[in-house]
Amino acid sequence: MNKSKIWLSSPHMGGNEQKYVQEAFDTNWVAPLGPNVSGFEQDLENYLGGKHHVAALSSGTAALHLGLILLDVQPGDEVICQSMTFSASANPIAYLGATPVFVDSESETWNICPVALEEAIIDRISKGKKPKAIIAVHLYGMPFKVKEVMAVAEKYSIPVLEDSAEALGSTFQGKNCGTFGQLAALSFNGNKIITTSGGGALVSSQKEHKDKAVFLATQARDAAPHYQHSEIGYNYRLSNICAGIGRGQMEVLDQHIALRRKMHDFYVDLFKEVEGVTVFSEPNTDYFSNHWLSCIVIDPQKTNGITRETLRLAMEVENIECRPLWKPMHLQPIFEQYPYYGGKVAENLFENGLCLPSGSNLNAEDCARIKAVVETLFDF
Ligand SMILES: *Cc1c(COP(=O)(O)O)cnc(C)c1O
Repeated sequence: MNKSKIWLSSPHMGGNEQKYVQEAFDTNWVAPLGPNVSGFEQDLENYLGGKHHVAALSSGTAALHLGLILLDVQPGDEVICQSMTFSASANPIAYLGATPVFVDSESETWNICPVALEEAIIDRISKGKKPKAIIAVHLYGMPFKVKEVMAVAEKYSIPVLEDSAEALGSTFQGKNCGTFGQLAALSFNGNKIITTSGGGALVSSQKEHKDKAVFLATQARDAAPHYQHSEIGYNYRLSNICAGIGRGQMEVLDQHIALRRKMHDFYVDLFKEVEGVTVFSEPNTDYFSNHWLSCIVIDPQKTNGITRETLRLAMEVENIECRPLWKPMHLQPIFEQYPYYGGKVAENLFENGLCLPSGSNLNAEDCARIKAVVETLFDF
């Protein structure tokens, strides 16, 4: 096979990243602190509208972990989590010895279903424990049903930790994802909309949250000349080298979102005549997705038996990477013993859904190769 690989989502540098990294070397700020770390935090705070505080961390997972700590999640507590997501949304619940309670998605945004969420809360309370927090995810960049989910959370006074790892630059009614919950986590892993090679951030409207997150992320050192600790700390701060990459990436974020959205439009056009294939799109104009990944759902009853697996394998032969949607957490061997509320929306999405190459760096030739596979398979 000599055709170059077309990735689902690969890093896409803007050009100035190396300039910031070089500055770090030139000034010897090769450490998990420095001007790039504070500069990157400032860039993110500006991008999110200037009203939020951002702590740059070593990963999105670290941000979720510290977020749950800031919400005072203790061993034995219950935390509600969207089932349809990446395992990193749920793992930090287990780190803290708390119990995840998984909730199904609704079919419009593929995110946490507000009706099943309320059912879960009512049932957990009736069993004696009010959930301590809710982790809601903006999957593939699509905002969750912000109004409905936040209304349920507020009705029962349960804080929301937004998993916005995939949704930097997405908005609901013009407001940025990552600014709706009490706290939010961002990720800058290699496959995300922007990357620092690895990294993440915790977002809050409260300055005290940021300060506490930075304190915990730097080994929880008390204010003393010697090393003194009254709390368990973590080594979760972002490196000044990685933050330099992030500063360069922030310069091209909006451009890259426009390119990802163009990929989505390409798939809408490609599949418009194909019966039984639906491209995942915003339910209405309140929603603006960064379309981090373009996804489709295939109904094999309308495609003469062509399934998402048929398409995935046909792409693989051409060295084009596609991947099934996230496998819901309540179906994962490690999590299946925990409570679950809802029906089969997430399960059906996993059965029939596929993520397609979505990078902002895909070119016309890549698109032509993708198109050729689809045209051959669906015979048009
Ligand atoms: C990537 C991702 C995370 C974890 O972020 P890392 O930076 O890789 O630790 C968490 N949740 C979701 C939904 C993600 O896609």
